Amino acid sequence: MTRILHRTIGPAPRTAVSGRGIYIMDTEGREYIDGSGGAAVSCLGHNHPEVVRAMQEQMAKISYAHTSFFTTEAAEELAVKLTDLAPGDLDYLYLVSGGSEAVEAALKMARQYFVEIGEPERRHIIARRQSYHGNTIGALAAGGNAWRREPFKPILPETHHVSPYYAYREKQEGETASDYAARLVAELEAKILELGSDQVMAFVAEPVVGATMGAVAAEADYFQGVRRVCDKYGVLLILDEVMCGMGRTGTLFACEQDGIAPDLMTIAKGLGGGYQPIGAVLLSGRIYNAFRDGSGFFQHGHTYIGHPIAAAAANKLVDLVADPAMLENVRRMGERLQEGLGSLLGQSPFVGDIRGRGLFRGIELVADRDSKAPFDPSLKMHARVKRAAMDRGLLCYPMGGTIDGRQGDHVLLAPPYIVTPDEIDRIAERVADAIKASTTE
Ligand code: PLP
Repeated sequence: MTRILHRTIGPAPRTAVSGRGIYIMDTEGREYIDGSGGAAVSCLGHNHPEVVRAMQEQMAKISYAHTSFFTTEAAEELAVKLTDLAPGDLDYLYLVSGGSEAVEAALKMARQYFVEIGEPERRHIIARRQSYHGNTIGALAAGGNAWRREPFKPILPETHHVSPYYAYREKQEGETASDYAARLVAELEAKILELGSDQVMAFVAEPVVGATMGAVAAEADYFQGVRRVCDKYGVLLILDEVMCGMGRTGTLFACEQDGIAPDLMTIAKGLGGGYQPIGAVLLSGRIYNAFRDGSGFFQHGHTYIGHPIAAAAANKLVDLVADPAMLENVRRMGERLQEGLGSLLGQSPFVGDIRGRGLFRGIELVADRDSKAPFDPSLKMHARVKRAAMDRGLLCYPMGGTIDGRQGDHVLLAPPYIVTPDEIDRIAERVADAIKASTTE
């Protein structure tokens, strides 16, 4: 019996009792490799002594001070650290408590910016199909996952969606990567012109699409083209790095690999690493100055923003994650994972694509490799793989609806950055075994 409204109603999930490094233990004495860091959260694994100590030290000083009265040293230090490391002119930080809150804040910042600079007619948000930006009303509206949006559609603010960069399924026969990128950038430009170039406020995208598509990155000139089009029409570019940021792809910020910087960037999961609920928006000096010279504030706020214990945890996480040796491990272990998955699953008739960057890898499952036909959604192949992996002592993050919110299945892997070569091999073996068992049942 449970009094919690769990994610699915029925028997309660297994009970986690402890965690250490990349492992989680349950009450039955079972040990799992956390091959996905939950949902790409636990970037330094569990119970990291330095992070725990940083939180304890902060707790012993002060645990909470409302941001309308005080700032704290922990929050100020975090802002300096992150803005020094951030690309472009992302010179200011706004702290929240998670990814959806960060997206909500970024959307409101975009809107208030245009109100402040005297362009109040700018109101349209453009995002991409098959994206995920969170579950609150504004973030859900921005997201392009049809299934998640469906029941709430009548109450979602109007948002417009263009195609994602999804080479495996949507790059045409004979089309080069840069022709494909140019086609998608032209689609974005056409959408801006259709809505009215002086009516659009922001384009929102994940540099590497996570939960809804399974680690799908674009080629470099796609995001450069996006940046150019946004600049041409004065549209703000919001990059959502809630899942792919904070070192996950092998650079501290995912967009570094695309050679661009946004006007607003959201981060969350890897910022708190699961130790504390924390998210943030990095904003450009131009946006900050518009607020400063206009209203004098950003018209927003939540009770727990700038929480000192969350900021203390994040300070330590940033120190550890931004260490070049740690990022190097992400890149090397990521390549090893890609190779391991390739050799174990590359010939599988049920694996269409293995992709990603750094320790952010996706495996797209198919019923037929040649035609790329997906499994019948009623088979819930993603759920089968998740169960089979758990039975083999591996946590991975499979999801259905990869193609259009209904059809398609993928498995997302996002192990902690401290993972060793042996552990990477075990992750690859267990996930391959789980996929084979599920697809041939
Ligand atoms: N944005 C992206 C890209 C995400 O992957 C997620 C969560 O998966 C969110 C936003 C929402 O974050 P949260 O679940 O912390 O609200």
